[in-house]
Amino acid sequence: LLRADQLVKRFGSSRGQDSFTAVDGVSFPVVRGGTTSLVGESGSGKSTTVRMLLGLETPDSGQIEFEGRDFSAPSQAERQAFRRRVQVVYQNPYASLNPKLSLEEIITEPLSAFRMGDKPSRRERAEWLMDSVELPRRLLDVRPTALSGGQRQRVAIARALAISPELVVLDEPVSALDAAVQSQILTLLDRLQRELGLSYLFISHDLAVVKQISDYVVVMQHGKVVEQAAVGQIFDSPQTDYTRQLLSHIP
Ligand code: ATP
Ligand code: MG
Repeated sequence: LLRADQLVKRFGSSRGQDSFTAVDGVSFPVVRGGTTSLVGESGSGKSTTVRMLLGLETPDSGQIEFEGRDFSAPSQAERQAFRRRVQVVYQNPYASLNPKLSLEEIITEPLSAFRMGDKPSRRERAEWLMDSVELPRRLLDVRPTALSGGQRQRVAIARALAISPELVVLDEPVSALDAAVQSQILTLLDRLQRELGLSYLFISHDLAVVKQISDYVVVMQHGKVVEQAAVGQIFDSPQTDYTRQLLSHIP
């Protein structure tokens, strides 16, 4: 679906010692209809890599492919088409939902932004989305401040699904939640993926979570990919000391 090819991103002064290479020659595929996970500890370059894939950050070098075509320097129209097919869910559902809006307004925001549907059809869509993420429809009229963390993350997922994207980027979507709620959200994401045929790009530092949801795993350390393989291979026969060390932290 999407492919990173030798992506490089430096921050700071472009010449000399002040420059810092956050992403250093990263290549991997985002598989269609499955979950590709980027794992690595804080500062390993996961978010920067994803920001480049999303066109939010310009790579210093390397290519991005979208559906087999070069997407490194997209035109305005190509960018717009891409945005219509990709949505993002962020880590902190307390920060990512506008406390001044009702859940209906939050969930239908992307529909308004893309001028999709009229008001009644958006309401209908919002009700369907609430059903999909297993929240009661009556909550559509309340504000996110009335919700628990897990409920908020369900709202963020509903919003991401509003425009029927093909790819959902999940940047640490369960890290802010406690273990029981994490597992409920992962189960929900898994069901939605199967029912809606979604592709996920999942970012996490937590390998226990990654094991539960991934098909393909990309391990990053200090801006480089140290290992990438199908999830079974990563967990059953890790090829690098770094991956083994990450695995040793799983309870
Ligand atoms: P985390 O798990 O903490 O989210 P990450 O793997 O997502 O970490 P990145 O956010 O990609 O890591 O950051 C990689 C490195 O690049 C970090 O050292 C960070 O400080 C640096 N970095 C990221 N964005 C910028 C920026 N805009 N300017 C300067 N340095 C940056
Ligand atoms: Mg990050």
